[in-house]
Amino acid sequence: MDTLTARTGLDLAALAAESSTPVLGRYFERSWARGEGHYLYDTDGKRHLDFANGIAVSALGHRHPAVTAAIHRQVDQLIAPMAAVGYAESTVRLATALAEVLPDPLDTVFFLNSGSEAIEGAIKLARRVSGRPGIVAFRGGFHGRTMGAASITSSNLVYRQGYEPLLPSVYLLPYPAVYRDFGGDEGRAVRVTLDHLRDLVRYTLPAHSIAAIFIEAVQGEGGYIPAPVAFLQALRAFCDEHDILLVCDEVQAGFARTGRMWSFEHAGIIPDVVCMAKAIANGLPLSAIASRRELQVRWGKSAHGSTYGGNPVSCAAGLAVLETIREQRLVENSAARGRELLAALRAVMAEDKRIGDVRGLGLMIGLEFVKDRATREPDGATCEAVIQGCADEGLLILSCGMEHNVIRWIPPLDVTAEEIETAVGIFRRVLATLPAHAGLADS
Ligand code: PMP
Repeated sequence: MDTLTARTGLDLAALAAESSTPVLGRYFERSWARGEGHYLYDTDGKRHLDFANGIAVSALGHRHPAVTAAIHRQVDQLIAPMAAVGYAESTVRLATALAEVLPDPLDTVFFLNSGSEAIEGAIKLARRVSGRPGIVAFRGGFHGRTMGAASITSSNLVYRQGYEPLLPSVYLLPYPAVYRDFGGDEGRAVRVTLDHLRDLVRYTLPAHSIAAIFIEAVQGEGGYIPAPVAFLQALRAFCDEHDILLVCDEVQAGFARTGRMWSFEHAGIIPDVVCMAKAIANGLPLSAIASRRELQVRWGKSAHGSTYGGNPVSCAAGLAVLETIREQRLVENSAARGRELLAALRAVMAEDKRIGDVRGLGLMIGLEFVKDRATREPDGATCEAVIQGCADEGLLILSCGMEHNVIRWIPPLDVTAEEIETAVGIFRRVLATLPAHAGLADS
């Protein structure tokens, strides 16, 4: 289909007002006709460089030829999930392929459908295997919207409000958000947050009652905030000392996003359980829980299950994703392009006091808008204006952070240096059209 035939002018937002749910939050009220490579085309035929990827989902861009071909082949062979009646080849092969890109001893994979479901399953695994009730997670974390996953989510009140009572025996601790909560002092961030963990097991919940600690090694929805290496290492040591399962939520940060296959690799740690989704099948629904075999043997036969989990079409797409990441050296590309993007955004920050921080790993970079660099007061309004302005200029970027004041930069994993230059150019031009804050601090 060419651009012309896609030009329908259809206003899907107006159509959606009839019978589509008003509950879903959307970044844009735009109508999309098709995606091709790194571009999304709206129903007027206008092209947008897509640095949103459905929030880090279509990480290889739209209709990636290898993924599309794998889906076509599988659709012609077997579509329906086989979990209840036996085995399907793509499902079994993807488990093996994932085990190969996970560090030892993570060798066993349980497929589900969404990130939330993977988290939900990991909570059940942790409780049943350990025989302990306690689940620890971190403030600002996002793990999903089902009741268990929402119980350990606190990146925004909207995910919890009105849903109490949530899961009991969940304890949320401060996260080492170095810039936002500790004024850039990484050492203090690590000390203070670890003190909170030690206080928890001293005053509130004995360590032997904790089944698992859940963490995003790079907080996603909470603001694209990498946890300090020393913190993740201390967490690993704490879990080892007390026989607690360390669960890494790699739903957003996994699959080469941070310039490593998994974001926890930056800290040189190996979690007991890894939850993954989003980029795993480049857009088709699929998620997974990975652990060492012994844990899932102890979890037990029929302890968990899913009708659709690991459906053959999603798994065929997943195999093509892994092959493409390996063949096109996309871990390396993510690291190299990430360095360029970070440098370019830091150059913009050097000239613009509305930007308080630029941070990140690989192609997972957060750029934070503040009203004042001294107070770090969040500036969601500027962030929103920039996002809408960039969309008007043909670049899709999204926000994150509790106050929606952080731009999340998540280009496709196979983004080129030229595309990064184009995107930063649009961003810079849009920023220049917006008014500067009055009374901006000179820091
Ligand atoms: N964990 C993380 C880190 C996420 O970013 C998300 C989705 N934004 C989820 C879990 C939940 O995934 P899903 O929306 O597929 O349930």
